[in-house]
Amino acid sequence: MFNVLKIDHIGIAVKDMEAAKKFYTEVLGMAVQGEEVVEQQKVKVCFIPSGDSEIELLESTSPDGPIAKFIEKNGEGVQHIALRVDNIEAALADLKAKGIRLIDEEPRYGAGAASIAFVHPKATGGILLELSERK
Ligand code: ZN
Repeated sequence: MFNVLKIDHIGIAVKDMEAAKKFYTEVLGMAVQGEEVVEQQKVKVCFIPSGDSEIELLESTSPDGPIAKFIEKNGEGVQHIALRVDNIEAALADLKAKGIRLIDEEPRYGAGAASIAFVHPKATGGILLELSERK
């Protein structure tokens, strides 16, 4: 079995991470942490903690990366919502058994050394849903 613990973060696709960071730091007075490039996803990521959750800014490192494609299609904005789960393997097995359409059948590496997997928007009412487990 598994439990959903909280909203872990909200992923926002941006064209220019430095410009986006300025809004959160200079206008809203928030602090940025944990900048990282995730090569596998062709994305540069940083986190902006807010209470128990975080905002994740995502900038593509390549014109053919998933974030670049998202922005091309939808413009900048919320790209996914991530729920923290206590056992991602159990969560994926359970969703698979329920016939839920998954993008990732196995957990993979996510920024901040999380184990992540995406659930298809067609299964969630239109939201790209990330499941995230942190040890
Ligand atoms: Zn994310």
